[in-house]
Amino acid sequence: MMQQYLALKAEHPDKLLFYRMGDFYELFYEDAQRAARLMDITLTARGQSAGQPIPMAGIPFHAAEQYLARLVKLGESVAICEQVGDPATSKGPVERKVMRVVTPGTLTDAALLDEKSDNLLLALSLSRGRLGLAWLSLASGRFALWEGKSDALPSELERLRPAEILLADDHDLALLGQQSRPVKRLPLWHFDAEAANRLLCKHFGTHDLVGFGVENMSLAVGAAGALLQYARATQGAELAHVQGLSVEVRGQYIELDAATRRNLELTETIRGEPAPTLASVLDQCMTSMGSRLLRHWLHHPLRDRSKLLARLGAVAELREHSALPSLQQALRPIADIERIASRIALKSARPRDLSSLRDSLAALPAIQQQLARMDAPLLQQLQQHLTAPEAVLPTLQAAILLEPASLLRDGGVINDGYHAELDELRGIQTNCDQYLLALEARERERTGIPNLKVEFNRVHGFYIEVSKAQGDKVPDDYRRRQTLKNAERYITPELKTFEDKALSAQERALALEKRLYEALLDELMHSLAALQLLAQAVSALDVLSTFAAQAALLDWHAPQFVDEPVIDIQQGRHPVVEAQVDDFIANDTGLSLTRKLLLITGPNMGGKSTYMRQTALIVLLAHVGSFVPAQQVRLGPIDRIFTRIGASDDLAGGRSTFMVEMTETANILHNASEHSLVLMDEVGRGTSTFDGLALAYAIVRQLVEKNRSYTLFATHYFELTRLSQDYPQLANVHLDAVEHKDTVVFLHSVKDGPASQSYGLAVAQLAGVPASVIRVARRHLQQLEAMSIGAGGPQADLFATLPPADEPLAAEPHPAMQALQQLDPDALTPREALEQLYRLQQLLQAE
Ligand code: ADP
Repeated sequence: MMQQYLALKAEHPDKLLFYRMGDFYELFYEDAQRAARLMDITLTARGQSAGQPIPMAGIPFHAAEQYLARLVKLGESVAICEQVGDPATSKGPVERKVMRVVTPGTLTDAALLDEKSDNLLLALSLSRGRLGLAWLSLASGRFALWEGKSDALPSELERLRPAEILLADDHDLALLGQQSRPVKRLPLWHFDAEAANRLLCKHFGTHDLVGFGVENMSLAVGAAGALLQYARATQGAELAHVQGLSVEVRGQYIELDAATRRNLELTETIRGEPAPTLASVLDQCMTSMGSRLLRHWLHHPLRDRSKLLARLGAVAELREHSALPSLQQALRPIADIERIASRIALKSARPRDLSSLRDSLAALPAIQQQLARMDAPLLQQLQQHLTAPEAVLPTLQAAILLEPASLLRDGGVINDGYHAELDELRGIQTNCDQYLLALEARERERTGIPNLKVEFNRVHGFYIEVSKAQGDKVPDDYRRRQTLKNAERYITPELKTFEDKALSAQERALALEKRLYEALLDELMHSLAALQLLAQAVSALDVLSTFAAQAALLDWHAPQFVDEPVIDIQQGRHPVVEAQVDDFIANDTGLSLTRKLLLITGPNMGGKSTYMRQTALIVLLAHVGSFVPAQQVRLGPIDRIFTRIGASDDLAGGRSTFMVEMTETANILHNASEHSLVLMDEVGRGTSTFDGLALAYAIVRQLVEKNRSYTLFATHYFELTRLSQDYPQLANVHLDAVEHKDTVVFLHSVKDGPASQSYGLAVAQLAGVPASVIRVARRHLQQLEAMSIGAGGPQADLFATLPPADEPLAAEPHPAMQALQQLDPDALTPREALEQLYRLQQLLQAE
């Protein structure tokens, strides 16, 4: 047996091998030690190898799923080896085979998947600055490709958030940066484009891949080949539900880089929690398919306005329609058709998958009826897809019991009347009960033993039980089967014959049920594509009606798309913050050609971040096809959203806060266009005041002059507010606060003009900094202010060090600065020093 084990293990060296022994999966050697540690199970030993006991750990097979779930969460892969031979007839160890491999990116079991998010397997291929990606959601059959520049890798990883990554073994792992997803290394030749081409054509049954639009995407095609091969091997099956490839084109979506996806907290908070996020506020979907699609849409804001208008049209009609609540109720019982279809394809669908598919299909007409009363073209289109694929519903209704057993193993799945032979075999079993009752009555009468019982148990089969006291009345044809304390159990030739017939009928019925079930899965396989279309229609309808219901509930309004360059938001709100505070103050955002950058000042906690993010979220929601938390919104074309918000250290990645900040800033300055929306929060904070101010100043100028993006720039450097004098397209706004008896009250409303003061001490006081410290700080502040007023106005000294805005960005430093820099004070006599001072002043006046 150990030889068999080692041979199987050799084929799966990098996975935990679950080796089936009776009712247990056993793990041996290092696998046992690792599993014991990871799953907190007992480590034992069995037999010996080279004089040492063999470490072993086991889990009961019926609890395997929960252990698998834990292992997969930890990024482990598991090969599951089953007994395929018959223990009764085999000589030596029973034949065993690895039936499937469970890896983090190839899950399909309902018990192992998060029902609200997609689980993706991603393969990537890189060459000469280009990147090819292929990803597959095995649980839904969606398979997609993308190819582009290799520097897009971090943002693509953040967008797709794969559960597992396949990478050729000659690529450096460091490519993937700091990400914690499990990576599977494969030989480079798995990514070969030509072999992949052949493999994919064969899989899809096509002559070539032209129809999928993948020309000139050899890297992505290569990745797709590696991925398909890997996914198939894990399932030990053809993936019949993977029926096509889709290609994602750059420009199809509003681009969001990795930092922006995180900062906007679309589906995960910055700390990695699922709530509160935009998705958690919005997701009142009735089905898990809807919840998944909603999350997908939030990460893929569209630029195609005709599609957006179609979605908005549907939302608008649903919102006003009296049938919306009943439509949503009708969606509620729909099961996860998408994942059930995949399990049918993989032949792993459980009986209750099929019964819930049946019930879902039966519920479709109710949804169609509600939709029939609506006119929006998209709703009409969805209505046409909301039909059960031909013959599937009647087949399921005929084949599956109303409430089937959860496992096929025990029978009780196939319906009565579906198959004559099964009915007959079951008839024998039902007749059994009557026969046994009759036999019991007859034997009681024959023997005169009134408490004689005919019964059955799994170990001993059928028997007649007689209490010891009545033992002398037992007739001669009774053969003793078992002795108990107070009773004897007997069998008679008649009962034995009956037993053989009954048990074999049961076995045959079970075997027949299994065959019928498999045939049924084969038959359903023809309807996979139709089921997938249906699943898409249900999920889209679910999301659109959720948008409509939320719009009504939360008072959201339809955005308007215009051609002129503008972001005009009236009375905008932050959807997530609003859900958490009692009185949310709505604010306007107005950006246009003549007003492209808003410099936002105001106290900490005043609401600057909230205001900036709400602008981005409103723009994003509009491009998802949702109504938005604002009274009125007009949006010109937008290509990307960038954010540089908050200080996050990437210590594990070896980058300090400031380094992260500047890397993100560099990305923005290189890539933001005049159609981009840029949010920058407190840039320059991570370094010394002068450095920070100088950088912030230059960055604002670059954004206004070169990028010309729609920009919200929050800063605590008041000096920057002066820039509005140089740039008419730069406007100052501030978040209002009032000081009241030494404390500060935030009004959260956005007002024109710069803030009058920063209220830093008041905020510190609010935060509980000891009164003694505040007192000392207040005194010190007064001194500082007195000094700076003496030097020419509040904080003017800082600003004076910066070049004026009309000077070209690349210009040399001011001559006075250069002269100052060249001075060596230690080498000057007092007189020389005085002369230098006069010279510096002259230089300044000359400017
Ligand atoms: P800042 O970025 O200026 O430090 P935040 O945007 O983080 O301030 O806001 C701080 C807190 O103020 C938020 O957590 C929220 O509770 C509250 N807040 C912000 N904006 C508003 C608003 N418009 N209406 C009501 N409360 C708000």
